[in-house]
Amino acid sequence: MQFIDQAEIEIEAGKGGDGIVAFRREKYVPAGGRAGGNGGRGGNVILVASQHLQTLLDFKYAHRFEAENGGRGGPNNRTGANGSDRQIEVPCGTIAYDAETGEILGDLVEPGQTLCVAKGGKGGLGNKHFLSNQNRAPDYALRGLPGEHRHLRLELKLLAEVGIIGLPNAGKSTLISALSAARPKIADYPFTTLVPNLGVVRKPTGDGTVFADIPGLIEGAHLGMGLGHDFLRHIERTRLLLHLVDATAEDPIANYQTIQEELRAYGHELSERPQILALNKIDAVDAETADALATELNQLTQVPVFQISAVAHIGLDALLQKIWESLDQLTAVEVAIPRGL
Ligand code: GDP
Ligand code: MG
Repeated sequence: MQFIDQAEIEIEAGKGGDGIVAFRREKYVPAGGRAGGNGGRGGNVILVASQHLQTLLDFKYAHRFEAENGGRGGPNNRTGANGSDRQIEVPCGTIAYDAETGEILGDLVEPGQTLCVAKGGKGGLGNKHFLSNQNRAPDYALRGLPGEHRHLRLELKLLAEVGIIGLPNAGKSTLISALSAARPKIADYPFTTLVPNLGVVRKPTGDGTVFADIPGLIEGAHLGMGLGHDFLRHIERTRLLLHLVDATAEDPIANYQTIQEELRAYGHELSERPQILALNKIDAVDAETADALATELNQLTQVPVFQISAVAHIGLDALLQKIWESLDQLTAVEVAIPRGL
């Protein structure tokens, strides 16, 4: 199972500046010298790999990128200024395709790596250039050439960093919808009935983090029954688990334990993966009930319990803040958490 973020953008490199026809005024030369300069080169559009981005989220908002045009040539043989390049930051691991032909233009792996995806047009030649023994008085110049124009498809394999776990009906899908700024695609997944629900949640720093809701985590999943096993394999790769407990359930504590049991039974140290606990649907229970449940869960687990409502958007900011803090701390100490899919 592979999660893929995709974006389509339109890029246009700068047009070359026009060459010009100009004459130098000279006292004793009747028509003066030919002195029209060449146009400058148009700017290129260049992708740059950045380690500060993890998703293609920004391209949901910005679709079109242009580099600067080259300047016109000047009199006295002055060449026009080259247009400046347009650099576009993309996450490491991004593959760039020509959207029309499907051709791979390249992939960006190492931070700082660049890929020119649209070349600026050449500047036109000024009339000075055409001066020759055969043609002593050229009075024409060439226009600059257009820059390359393309539709690009960007593709990035994603790693879900936060796995949302909990029994069916705990509110996992609802929470992802409430938090997410975009929905990446799931590629190569053969089943249609039960797929993880992904969302990219925007961090305060602007880039996104992928949350995955794993619907198959139900009793018996560790035995490889149904689709659960596949999903468990996937959450193995997440760095942080967000465990949702339905406050309106008959026995929320037992539900919490069911999931914990599931994680332990699966092994692979999944039950030791850092967890954040959230008691959901507090809009639907009275405050004393919610507090009592939160206290009981906290005593049982020794981790803070956040009271939230995915539907009424209660407590979500505090929960997210805790998630970002925890991810930062994990990054600081982590050594062996797998990054690839
Ligand atoms: P999932 O199976 O864990 O993905 O749960 P869903 O997101 O599908 O939610 C199950 C049901 O609980 C739906 O009817 C939701 O509308 C409801 N639900 C989810 N979050 C809340 C909440 O915060 N408050 C209330 N009252 N209902 C919620
Ligand atoms: Mg769901």
